Parts: sequence; structure tokens; C-alpha cells
Amino acid sequence: MTYDLVIIGGGVAGLTLAQTLQDRLKVLVIEESSLGGLSTDLGCKATDECLYCGVCQFINLQKELFFKKFDVLEGRKITFLDKSGREFQIKTEKGERITSQLLVVATGASPLEIKSLPLLGGGKFPRVYSGWDIERGLNEGIISSFRDFSSLAFIQCAGSRNFKEKRGYCSQVCCRYALRIAENLKFSYPQLNIDFYYMDLQILGKKKGKLWEIADKVNLIRHLPYEVKEGEGKLSLVFEEQGVERKDYDAVILSVGMIPSSGTKEIGRWLGLNFDSTGFIKSYGEGHTSCKGVFVCGTACGPKDIETTREEAQMVAEEIWRVWRG
Ligand SMILES: Cc1cc2nc3c(=O)[nH]c(=O)nc-3n(C[C@H](O)[C@H](O)[C@H](O)COP(=O)(O)OP(=O)(O)OC[C@H]3O[C@@H](n4cnc5c(N)ncnc54)[C@H](O)[C@@H]3O)c2cc1C
Ligand code: SF4
Ligand code: SF4
Repeated sequence: MTYDLVIIGGGVAGLTLAQTLQDRLKVLVIEESSLGGLSTDLGCKATDECLYCGVCQFINLQKELFFKKFDVLEGRKITFLDKSGREFQIKTEKGERITSQLLVVATGASPLEIKSLPLLGGGKFPRVYSGWDIERGLNEGIISSFRDFSSLAFIQCAGSRNFKEKRGYCSQVCCRYALRIAENLKFSYPQLNIDFYYMDLQILGKKKGKLWEIADKVNLIRHLPYEVKEGEGKLSLVFEEQGVERKDYDAVILSVGMIPSSGTKEIGRWLGLNFDSTGFIKSYGEGHTSCKGVFVCGTACGPKDIETTREEAQMVAEEIWRVWRG
């Protein structure tokens, strides 16, 4: 199989890029799992009104792609990837052999697993949830246990902005998804008293006015706990400084951010691409990487929301078209 452009990763980034170039180039998307990536698991946070979480942009993209004009290999693990001369050679575990002139790495990010945050109770206490669990819970309707709770704490920057762990970056999406989830939970369970522990609120984007309205409704506390402990049926937040009170809650949500996916690390290594200091693939502007003919877009090169991912993928597509035409 010979293509002008092969895109590795069929999340929002890869699909948007393919959609933008489908009338101009012969395009193949190779997806190791199923199309949609992380966005497939994100929940609608609407209450009696839309909270503009951005997930509808993915739903609309899926509808638009009903009549797609590019090829897809879904559920395919790449077993070989190399550049010979000016072409890329790709083999999959099902024996397909593919040749392409240009390559895009759109292999995305993963949510940080809370078991890597044991001090905050992640993976230790059942009522310490990850923001990712709740995103998925909104989809699957598994948050009904919140009906029995009266107090809830959100802990922001869980695992992000941590220089010791080489995650000094801001994950961009977690302040916004956490505030929207808080509003959604409060709407369903009005008895909940919600405290929101943060160090910096990243409220950006076109609908930031709405988010500030939500922020006014939770108890914003500019302080991050050092530890979460369990005892007498409650979770206690412990603060490092002496004299700062311990506070007890029925449940805690750790607002986890994004880390590079295993696919991003693997494909980047195979192609010998440069990474930035936090492990995302380094983009040198307009999607160019350290390897000629290889482009990167989406969360493979750093955390971003769906809207920004789409805008970036469209911009990288135009750059690829410019390079293709010489
Ligand atoms: C906890 C959390 C909450 C979020 N909430 C929101 C929100 O409310 N609103 C919002 O706008 N955004 C939100 N986001 C961000 C959103 O998930 C991303 O913007 C979006 O998923 C980026 O798409 P992507 O295509 O770059 O990456 P991904 O969605 O990660 O897709 C990458 C794809 O590449 C595939 N892949 C990986 N390796 C390989 C390989 N070797 N071969 C083939 N395929 C491969 C994967 O299977 C996947 O399908 C959230 C993210 C997290 C972690
Ligand atoms: S933008 Fe988000 S909150 Fe609004 S309807 Fe769409 S999925 Fe629901
Ligand atoms: S988006 Fe908010 S919670 Fe997430 S890392 Fe940035 S400041 Fe912290």
C-alpha cells in the first residue's frame, strides 16, 4: 500500500488532520486501538444548560467523518517503522506493508494514573477518585454514590506542575474540566459542599466567563494539601504548614492531567525524534519535528484541549500541504 501521508494515531488530532487533507492527498490513518482516542471517554458536563466543555466538537467530528475519504487501519499495532531514502516503510502486526512520503505522529497523551499519587490516597482509598474516573463516570452514569456524600474536595494539579517528577508543565485542561464537573455534581446533588484546592486557576478559552461564574459557586481555597489520610469513614486533607487545619471530606477528586502516551514515547524513539524535557515530542513550529518529513500534532507534543487540538491539526495540515507542493 502506497500513500502520500500516513498518520499514526486516530484521535481528534489525527482525524482532523486527515479530514483537512483528504481531498488533496492520499491519506491513511493507522490506529492501534479504536478511532477517537481519549475523547471517546470524555463525558458531557451539561446541567440544565450546556457548560461548553468542548466534547461536542468531537461528537460533530465523528458525524462529519461518516463520509470520510481517507483510509483507516484500525486495531493495528505497528511492528516496524523506518525511513529508507525519502520514504517511510511501515509494517503492522497483521502483515500489512505500507510506504509513505510523509508521516504524522498523532499518538496523543494519557491521563496520569492516580496510583502514582499514593500520598494523596490515589489507588489506596476507594473514595479518592481521579478526575478521569469522573469524566468516564459522567458517560457511564456511575457517579450515583455521590448522592450519599455531603462534602467533597477537588485537589488541582494532581501530578502536574511537579518539577521533581519532570512534570513541571500545566496540563491545561484540568482546571476547566474540574470546575465543570463540580457544577454538574452540585446540580445533581445540591447537598454537596464542594471545596476546590488549587494553586493557580487556568481558566482560558472562549467561554471563560461561564467558568468564572462556576468558580464563584465553589469554595476556592488557594492551598494544596500535602497528604490525604483515611480514618473514621472520612478522608482527611493534611497540610504541610504547622497551624493549618486538617479538613475532613466524604470524597476527594484528584484533578489529574496528561502525560505522554506510551505510543508517543515508542514511535518518537523509533523515529529518533527529539523530545522536550517533559517527554512530549518536540515541535519546532507548525508541526515540524527533528526528522525531515515527520510532523507531530495534538497532545503528542503537549497537553491541550479538543478545540486547540483541532485548530493546531488544521494548521499543521496546511503546512504539510505547503511542503508537499514544494
Ligand atoms: C482527564 C482529562 C480530561 C479532559 N477533559 C477535556 C474536556 O473536558 N474538554 C476538552 O476539550 N478536552 C479535554 N481533555 C483533553 C482531550 O482528551 C484531548 O484534547 C484530546 O484527546 C487530544 O486528542 P489527540 O488526538 O491529540 O490524542 P488522543 O486522544 O490521546 O489520541 C491519540 C490516539 O493515538 C493512538 N495511538 C497511540 N499510540 C499509537 C501507535 N503506536 N500506533 C497507532 N495508534 C496509536 C491512541 O490509541 C489514540 O487513539 C481531557 C484530557 C484528560 C486527560
Ligand atoms: S459542549 Fe459539553 S456540556 Fe455542552 S452539550 Fe456538548 S458535551 Fe455537553
Ligand atoms: S490546568 Fe489547572 S489543575 Fe491542571 S495543571 Fe494547570 S493549573 Fe494545575
